[in-house]
Amino acid sequence: LGPTVCVGEILVEIVATTIGDGFRTAQPLVGPYPSGAPAIFIDQCGRLGGRAAMIGAVGDDDFGQLNLDRLRADGVDVSAVAVDRQFPTGSAFVRYRASGARDFVYNIATSAASRFGWSDAVEALVRRAGHIHVMGTALSMPSAAAVIARAVEIIKARGGTLSVDPNLRKELQLDVGVERQFAELVAKADLLLPSGDELERAAGVEGEAAALEKLFALGVAEIVLKRGANGATCFSRDGSRLDAAAFVVTEVDPTGAGDCFGGAYVACRRLGMGAEQALTYAAAAGARNVTVRGPMEGAGTRAELDAFIAATPRR
Ligand code: ADP
Repeated sequence: LGPTVCVGEILVEIVATTIGDGFRTAQPLVGPYPSGAPAIFIDQCGRLGGRAAMIGAVGDDDFGQLNLDRLRADGVDVSAVAVDRQFPTGSAFVRYRASGARDFVYNIATSAASRFGWSDAVEALVRRAGHIHVMGTALSMPSAAAVIARAVEIIKARGGTLSVDPNLRKELQLDVGVERQFAELVAKADLLLPSGDELERAAGVEGEAAALEKLFALGVAEIVLKRGANGATCFSRDGSRLDAAAFVVTEVDPTGAGDCFGGAYVACRRLGMGAEQALTYAAAAGARNVTVRGPMEGAGTRAELDAFIAATPRR
């Protein structure tokens, strides 16, 4: 039915190489790495051979070129990524605390990522898309949120499907409008990819069983719950449940695991795989991604993920 599209922020990420609190002391930083949750998702999707296309914007600068080069190299159609001549590519600085928590400094609001709108290129892409994936992070940018609303309507109307990763970030505070759009998207979604307490937040009820029941009643067909180093579980509306044990890896940089997991899962399902095989590739993509620094650096091709699966024990 046409490619998988993802709409939202394309950024560079600059990562501290030391563990500590915040950025007030001098420290070695590395980067820029291509980043942005929607960009990571679609890059992993493309790398796995899923037809993939991105909607968003970069600045007319090296950071933008870095992202465009990476996405193109991984097979992602960037015809609907605008180049903003006025505002720079967005950026995020990240430092890990000893607890595993992260400190971020974002420049997104005054970047190209917050300023793109509907265009002929977006229209042409959406009119042939078969699936749209929505990242919760993108909803906090009004321009991206408007593009998402219109794209979802068109793609669902032509028989396409929708997946939603709540990816709700405290740093990107949700206002009431965002909460409303998020709830509307959840109600239209075919597949949800929550992690941690996002399952209950998406359902608006407490308890895993109650949340699942409510979401299936809304019409969601499949819910894949991500549990970090504890693996993942796929719940289907027919009542079946599949658990995927996590691969045993040494975590170097957890950023991007959930995005790679989702990109791999959606790519595999759309390539015709069943939930079990897709879950294995997704768990491998998430695990492989945390073994290297940089949010998108560990995204895998099918051959790379096959080699990783063959070589890595599971919990
Ligand atoms: P999110 O980034 O959305 O919170 P997770 O941290 O749960 O998502 O990561 C997504 C998936 O990636 C997990 O379900 C798991 O399969 C894999 N993964 C993440 N971190 C690890 C890890 N440390 N070891 C093994 N697998 C991991």
